[in-house]
Amino acid sequence: MTRTYGRGESAFHALRGVDLAVKRGESLAIVGKSGSGKSTLMHLLALLDRPTSGQVIVEGTDAATLRARDLNALRNSTFGFVFQQFFLAAGQSVFENVSLPLVIAGAPAKERRRRTMAALDALGIADKAANRATDLSGGQKQRVVIARALVGEPSVIFADEPTGNLDSATGAQVEEILFGLQRERGITLVVVTHDRELADRCGRAVAIADGLISTDAATAAAALTEVSR
Ligand code: ADP
Ligand code: MG
Repeated sequence: MTRTYGRGESAFHALRGVDLAVKRGESLAIVGKSGSGKSTLMHLLALLDRPTSGQVIVEGTDAATLRARDLNALRNSTFGFVFQQFFLAAGQSVFENVSLPLVIAGAPAKERRRRTMAALDALGIADKAANRATDLSGGQKQRVVIARALVGEPSVIFADEPTGNLDSATGAQVEEILFGLQRERGITLVVVTHDRELADRCGRAVAIADGLISTDAATAAAALTEVSR
């Protein structure tokens, strides 16, 4: 598939022909230099954006054939997001932030409470439920983001630089949590990262260079050298 931003003279070909299959239960790292197209690819895979050409097929269904409503329902019920740009709502409590996907999905209050507390428990932050999300440390905030990603019981978690803003000890804890979910709950993990160790821990890594998956060993090695910096 391809993704071009803009058109005519200002058109920018962010993805120029990428063919990628994500397998159920795997952990997949997407690595590459800044601007290579990693986030664009992840947004397409996560049904947050549509390709300019080509298809995104989820369990045999071409996403382009779904009505907006069904697409949203599929995304909400199947995917969890750990993205830096999906900020926590500043004035709201940890509980409110984590339960938001269930509010959107229209889950009854009792079920929202049960599932939100279960997700907070899984991340070891149940005692922070009533705190304002903005009053937490960086590592705690990232746990809140992961709890929110988990609350809908997704089968796939998409994480874009999940450890990017964290110190190495906190980043290691967040990594443990993500790989624990993959191992213990069979959740598929798709992670964009600049972190060499995180990429190495994934079952598989694909390197993106200038909008293409680089199969060339030298280019792939250069992308991995880049991520280790
Ligand atoms: P990465 O995540 O690998 O850093 P991105 O996928 O975010 O890269 O972006 C790939 C390229 O596409 C970059 O050159 C970026 O400037 C460009 N790009 C991304 N989003 C847009 C957009 N909405 N409009 C125009 N260009 C964009
Ligand atoms: Mg990016």
